[in-house]
Amino acid sequence: MTAEVLVVGAGPTGMTAANELRLAGVSCVLVDRLPRASELSKAGGLQTRTQEAFDQRGLLEPLLATGDYPVTTAHFAGNLLPLVRRRHRFPWRSVPQVVIEGFLEEHLAAEGIRVRRDHELAGLEQDADGVTATFADGTAIRSQYLVAADGGRSTVRKLLGAEFSGRPGTETMVAADVRLSAEVPMTTITREGYRAQVFPLGVDAEGRPLRRLTFGGPGWSRERDIPVTEDEIRTGLKTVFGNRVELVELRYARRITNAALQAAQYRHGRVFLAGDAAHVHLPFGAQGMNAGIQDAMNLGWKLGAAVRGTAPEGLLDSYHAERHPVGAAVLRNVQAQSLLLDDGPDSAAVRSLFTELVHLPEVQYLLDDMLSGMGFRYEIPGSEEHPLVGLPAHDLGPELRAGRGVLVDPEGQFGDLAQRWADRVNRVDTGAEAKLVRPDGYVAWAGDPDGLEPALRQWFGAPLS
Ligand SMILES: Cc1cc2nc3c(=O)[nH]c(=O)nc-3n(C[C@H](O)[C@H](O)[C@H](O)COP(=O)(O)OP(=O)(O)OC[C@H]3O[C@@H](n4cnc5c(N)ncnc54)[C@H](O)[C@@H]3O)c2cc1C
Repeated sequence: MTAEVLVVGAGPTGMTAANELRLAGVSCVLVDRLPRASELSKAGGLQTRTQEAFDQRGLLEPLLATGDYPVTTAHFAGNLLPLVRRRHRFPWRSVPQVVIEGFLEEHLAAEGIRVRRDHELAGLEQDADGVTATFADGTAIRSQYLVAADGGRSTVRKLLGAEFSGRPGTETMVAADVRLSAEVPMTTITREGYRAQVFPLGVDAEGRPLRRLTFGGPGWSRERDIPVTEDEIRTGLKTVFGNRVELVELRYARRITNAALQAAQYRHGRVFLAGDAAHVHLPFGAQGMNAGIQDAMNLGWKLGAAVRGTAPEGLLDSYHAERHPVGAAVLRNVQAQSLLLDDGPDSAAVRSLFTELVHLPEVQYLLDDMLSGMGFRYEIPGSEEHPLVGLPAHDLGPELRAGRGVLVDPEGQFGDLAQRWADRVNRVDTGAEAKLVRPDGYVAWAGDPDGLEPALRQWFGAPLS
């Protein structure tokens, strides 16, 4: 079997990548080793930039129409950031990962991309022309490129021998979806060093509040694969909260590790690591899934251009150049959150100082820039000269639905130039200021008119004429 691009892993990253490749007109095969969709409860939060990107693809409204997903208050290590709630058009929302995955899978199916389940990638070889992936059942798929979206324990990453380094895990904690008998504070650390965090996770079908409980502490760490029991959760609650709260219902539980690791290279020839395959960390601040979706948005159109033969020199390498620093920044802020939730005596002092600092609007905005995905600016040519370049074009919506580049030309002065890239870039006359926006929604040029043609060449390749 052949495909232009093979996407391994049908989690949020792989499904977003498949959708982007579809928009780019590329034939893509999406495989997953699971026989059916995962029911694991993982991410609970959809960050601002992810919502904006989904909105630009026309996916946000139908996704949010599938249920009741409340706006929640973002937090950093349990410190609420109420001032950022009204900062963005799309504030942080509780949407369970399993809902997002189900929605994306249905959307892809409606567009003709069916997840090929029971396909466990087991081998990988690449040469100058393509990649051959072999599966546990002995079948093989040959493709021009491969996207490894196969999660934190990525088989592809291991087969590549890719460096995956950072801070190794030193302990595990329990993460559980629960119903509790009473309200408890978001963050509690006992004198003995036991820690619990309790976050809202929306409501169940009967409208009862669900919560994500995370707890750990001295002697609590176990091997990751040892199942979490209901008794363990009850003991954990008692250890941290005494008799203040009881477990009413346990929906789901697993162990998570405090490892913070990142692939040194996101590109390995024709193979690209994305999502958890490229970066893993504690789920603090609701960032992993969101970062993976943004990886896929960044990579999809670039691979599309490479397959169609229009990719300019360096376009595929820009995936690592742009997304690796974002992954590194996420890991840094998660490690900072870990330290703030640590049980050491010095951490208590830092925590108390931080609790004061976080009342300052500037601090809330800075932390929100990190967590929401809105503050990451790609270092691309022109980003030092113009305040818009390298940032998402927040004012665009349906203009980006087709997954093509967009030249915003309010005064109609760039018609002739735009015509030369008309097969890759749409020209629109909405908007206040002229700018060139890439298919992933990031501004590639604004300002000096002489910079437009070089920017078109840099991001979209040679013109038609
Ligand atoms: C308790 C918890 C809470 C979290 N909360 C948040 C949150 O609020 N916000 C947030 O953004 N993130 C959160 N995360 C992180 C988030 O769940 C992950 O970052 C996200 O799942 C990564 O998506 P992915 O598609 O990259 O990988 P995954 O979701 O892991 O998907 C990988 C897919 O690849 C498949 N696969 C694996 N190996 C193979 C193979 N060899 N062949 C074929 N298929 C394979 C797997 O079956 C799987 O379907 C949380 C995680 C946990 C555990």
